[in-house]
Amino acid sequence: PLTGKVALVTGSTSGIGLASAHKLAQQGCNVIIHGLVDQAQGKELQGLFERTYEIKSAFSDANLAEVKEIDQLFSVIQAKFGRLDIVVNNAGVQYTETTEKFPLERWQMIININLTAAFYITQKALPLMHENNWGRIINIASVHGLVGSVNKSAYVAAKHGLVGFTKVVAMEQANRGVTVNAICPGWVETPLINDQIDAIAKHQSLSFDDAKKQLVTAKQPLENMTSPDQIGDLVSFLCSDSASTMTGSALTIDGGWTAQ
Ligand code: NAD
Repeated sequence: PLTGKVALVTGSTSGIGLASAHKLAQQGCNVIIHGLVDQAQGKELQGLFERTYEIKSAFSDANLAEVKEIDQLFSVIQAKFGRLDIVVNNAGVQYTETTEKFPLERWQMIININLTAAFYITQKALPLMHENNWGRIINIASVHGLVGSVNKSAYVAAKHGLVGFTKVVAMEQANRGVTVNAICPGWVETPLINDQIDAIAKHQSLSFDDAKKQLVTAKQPLENMTSPDQIGDLVSFLCSDSASTMTGSALTIDGGWTAQ
């Protein structure tokens, strides 16, 4: 059903972004793979998508902390595809530290990658979506776009910002064929959370698996983590006609984290 459409999934060389890219490509969507891996790895992934799904793909390693690199990414999209229908603002980074000790440079980096890049990419994508009167913008926020956790000041601020931004763009784009939604996952099994599991394992002399269980159950009533594929399915649903009146939502998929 997405045949002929073009999707940019930021941070799609790993985790949630990669799974979302697979789900979109499975439906015939052309997908731009993006993330911080070397060119050889990126091109290999691009080839895999092209062969597996018989779609057109491209690879970009634009550093989203640099506005100029986002400009270059859009030049590539224009040249190779000449259209853009779906944006999944997914790339994100984490750093944990108390607010007293949180380094300013880390704060700025997290705000730039997790929030400002989503704004700037949205700004550049909207005119392309308007050309076809259809678009889907999906911002991968977090439960941390809705509630706080200690030692995550920058991440929580950025994700709350992303949920707020989602609402405003949704209102502005209503009746223009473009829907804008945020997905707010709880714990998802990806490399992003490994540092946090390692820290618990080290401090409490636990195995990686026991530390993982502790991390999850400290926040979620449901002790399974969500899989990247499950988030990808939600992304896919938001791109379907069934979701054409869903806009401005912050959808939790969090094992009950925010039900408490
Ligand atoms: P991940 O670490 O597996 O993947 C992150 C991706 O972002 C990679 O492709 C990486 O190359 C890219 N990236 C990082 N910094 C970048 C930069 N400066 N420029 C360009 N690309 C950059 O992480 P993930 O867990 O799949 O996270 C994806 C999104 O989901 C993030 O926004 C994260 O905050 C959010 N999220 C994750 C969880 C979780 O538990 N894993 C929960 C809620 C929300």
